[in-house]
Amino acid sequence: MSSKPFNSFEIAQTQFDHVAAQLDLDEGTRDLLRWPMREYSFGIPVRMDDGHIKVFRGFRVQHNDARGPSKGGIRFHPHETIDTVRALAMWMTWKCAVVDIPLGGAKGGVICDPHNLSAREQEQICRGWVRQIARNVGPVADVPAPDVMTNAQHMLWMLDEFEVLHSGRYPGFITGKPVGMGGSLGRTEATGYGVVFTLREALRELGIPPESTRASVQGFGNVSQYAIRLYQQIGGKVICVSSWDQADQTSYSFKKASGVDADALESITDRFGGIDKEKARKLGYEVLPGDAWLDQPVEVLMPCALENQITPDNVLRVHPAVKIIAEGANGPTTTEADRAIRERGIFMIPDFLANAGGVTCSYFEQVQSNMNYFWEKDEVLGKLDVKMTSAFHAVSDLARKRSLYMRDAAYVIAINRVAQACKDRGWV
Ligand code: NAD
Repeated sequence: MSSKPFNSFEIAQTQFDHVAAQLDLDEGTRDLLRWPMREYSFGIPVRMDDGHIKVFRGFRVQHNDARGPSKGGIRFHPHETIDTVRALAMWMTWKCAVVDIPLGGAKGGVICDPHNLSAREQEQICRGWVRQIARNVGPVADVPAPDVMTNAQHMLWMLDEFEVLHSGRYPGFITGKPVGMGGSLGRTEATGYGVVFTLREALRELGIPPESTRASVQGFGNVSQYAIRLYQQIGGKVICVSSWDQADQTSYSFKKASGVDADALESITDRFGGIDKEKARKLGYEVLPGDAWLDQPVEVLMPCALENQITPDNVLRVHPAVKIIAEGANGPTTTEADRAIRERGIFMIPDFLANAGGVTCSYFEQVQSNMNYFWEKDEVLGKLDVKMTSAFHAVSDLARKRSLYMRDAAYVIAINRVAQACKDRGWV
């Protein structure tokens, strides 16, 4: 969609400043929280399959660990930047705090495009990433996880390298591992389901029966696919999804007014979440431009692809029928677009609340790994529902009581918790 270079870190800092100004935070606390505490940037030399050496740039940013070890995913993306990683690390701090799990915020990344890398080359990047940062991460310091274009296999390679370097078994070092190798049941579903647990509560609060609603979703990857499935289970109808087309280097939207079939669409989707448009046409989908997902006549929008997708250029296209936006992706809405959404009175479930199911389940995985005892899937998803539902209500109660926008209410809760931990530790 928008090709304007929005800076996610500036957006994250603006959001923080906006709420910090309303809180009684002293200057030292503000200075501490509006920047990451530690940042690492490094080169990862990899011998490519054709024999030449290519150096990939890797990052790890630890925003704040006052409430516990830092936690956050590692993204493989050709357009990764230190500022995006900073923003995502900061959002992780607020995310862990808003769902009240004892973890801080971090994020990592490598500038690379897995579409063009063999499995062996990706393994070398994973192992190289760990070799560069092994001294500064670990089960009691900073716990990575998968994110955009990384998966359970990448996590296992990283774990293996960490365990070789530290001569032992440290399953709590990383989450998103394969089930049977220290992974938690339910992790695959967790983020998408978490989005819908909060959406279900928002619908209840607004007195809207889920069966009367339609949704349009950006992205058809991990978050989107499970959000769609659970939303359909509670009675909603998804009429449009979009995805990135690697061959055409653009995105497309796939519309079916009678409702999309997630399983059928998944069967024609590549491992990066790209839907095959010819096969989709044969299945009866209308193939529309990439941003068509945004102007559909639906009650619910779920941006579940990437950051900076709802912008001042396209926010006016959001259909008047839209009542709720549930941000599955991190940072999908730019600051000005967010203002327009607020002014229109659309109920916003902000990213660091809506998509906190992933990190909550990662926390459960860490707990299970550390005690070497694994729960049944129902138990994991049941505990996830409890956490997400109570976090949602804490935010929406505050929003109602103090007439705050949902994003601001979530920030007030999260920033207060983190600021208090910094104060209690005597840092500020
Ligand atoms: P994914 O790689 O599995 O899927 C991403 C999807 O977005 C794919 O379908 C891809 O085709 C699509 N996409 C990419 N660029 C697009 C564009 N310009 N227009 C339309 N579609 C596009 O990633 P994911 O794990 O589902 O993550 C999606 C978002 O959710 C990211 O912002 C990520 O940071 C966030 N998130 C993920 C998790 C998690 O547990 N996976 C947790 C919290 C937040």
